[in-house]
Amino acid sequence: MPDEMIVRFWGVRGSYPVPGSRTVRYGGNTSCVEVQAGVHTIILDAGTGIINLGMELLRRAKDDGNKPVVATLFFSHMHHDHTQGFPFFRPAYAGASTLHILGPKVFQSDLEETLSHAMLPPSFPFSLEDLASLKIMRNISENNIVLLGHTPADVRVLNLYHNEIDSSPELVRVRTYHSYAHPKNGVNIYRISWRGRSVVYATDTEGYVETDRRLVKFAQGADLLIHDSQYRQEDYIDTNNPKQGWGHSTPEMACAIAREAKVGQLVLFHHEPLYDDDTIASVEEHARSLYPNTCAAYEGLEVRL
Ligand SMILES: [Zn+2]
Ligand SMILES: [Zn+2]
Repeated sequence: MPDEMIVRFWGVRGSYPVPGSRTVRYGGNTSCVEVQAGVHTIILDAGTGIINLGMELLRRAKDDGNKPVVATLFFSHMHHDHTQGFPFFRPAYAGASTLHILGPKVFQSDLEETLSHAMLPPSFPFSLEDLASLKIMRNISENNIVLLGHTPADVRVLNLYHNEIDSSPELVRVRTYHSYAHPKNGVNIYRISWRGRSVVYATDTEGYVETDRRLVKFAQGADLLIHDSQYRQEDYIDTNNPKQGWGHSTPEMACAIAREAKVGQLVLFHHEPLYDDDTIASVEEHARSLYPNTCAAYEGLEVRL
């Protein structure tokens, strides 16, 4: 078991996948990030990046003496670019797999219902209950803390105000901040901590004047901040096609949060699908002038904490 927390990027794009020669350097798959912490495999979102991750998890499980895949999947929200890979996530079809699936309630609908809608017939040949894996699904909100214990199957959703919370640093703990800066029901932002290290996943959120102060507080001192930076400032405020209110940030907004929260490093995430590799490289260079320890996420990027 590795001593470090390992964060791997499998899909870094926003809105829709963009394979092709213009996107080979940063990748064209939609949002999916893997976090390995102790015995736990944590997956953040199920954009098309999760398809390749699924193959990799099955390969690793086979190499590890044909063990079943056990993973915990957190959805930030249920927009298509964060769910569209799930119907092609191969471990979900394997009877031996166990998937803990956690995410926000959307308006009055439970996570299970919204995920079912994302892959319901007639648009897809299988429904959620046709997938053979064991699926344990729970809504989570800011009132919850998720504790991942000493075995991969030990996943506990606790209420912060009603349950006694074990403070052992050996447990992986996941906290939620629900941002309303994304249409139409907001987005869950997650902070995953283990052995004194932490990563914050803040996709699909838009900045405020003088920064989102609740996010600054939530992300304070994190070793790694993964933050939405979909639009260049000039496109965000473009008079002919402004993007204000669309629920996404500029690199300036992401860097401001990183600076105010004093994070160790910043990864720009959820790239605009219309931007080619050279455009993202220029965004990355500009962002580094604002917050030095910054890079643009690309498929295959691995960060060890
Ligand atoms: Zn998105
Ligand atoms: Zn979204």
